[in-house]
Amino acid sequence: MKPIDIANALQINRPETGEMVGVGLYRLLRLVALEDILGSGASAVSYYAGKKMGKELQLKKLDDFLALCEQLKIGQIKIPTMTAELIHVDVHECVTCAGLSPVGRMLCHFEGGLMAGAVESILGKHVQAHEVSCIGGFGHETCGFDLQIHD
Ligand SMILES: [Zn+2]
Repeated sequence: MKPIDIANALQINRPETGEMVGVGLYRLLRLVALEDILGSGASAVSYYAGKKMGKELQLKKLDDFLALCEQLKIGQIKIPTMTAELIHVDVHECVTCAGLSPVGRMLCHFEGGLMAGAVESILGKHVQAHEVSCIGGFGHETCGFDLQIHD
């Protein structure tokens, strides 16, 4: 089976309809369909898929990652903490979960993985993301991610 790479997937030919879709379609795929098939395994699969993709983007600097978040409309990104060991990222208006009635668990593993993978390739160091707050998971103000940087 021939894989569909990122560049190919992002070639969009929809002259009438345009390249934007509603957030709803993404959420139905990410939160409903994926969990329906994979159950609790959806979290790990989403994180791993995000991380792999984040690395494959081969971004060179943090600004490229912020530009990507803006382009993909992941949310409003703030980075209040950045040290050699830890980057904290806050996502306001998270694409995955902003507005949900809280479900009592973290939801944004794909985004965490994407950040970990992107920062890993930017820094050339091993990076792990932990979601520490979640809007749709717990009613927090942001989806917050601690990116732990290891040599
Ligand atoms: Zn979240």
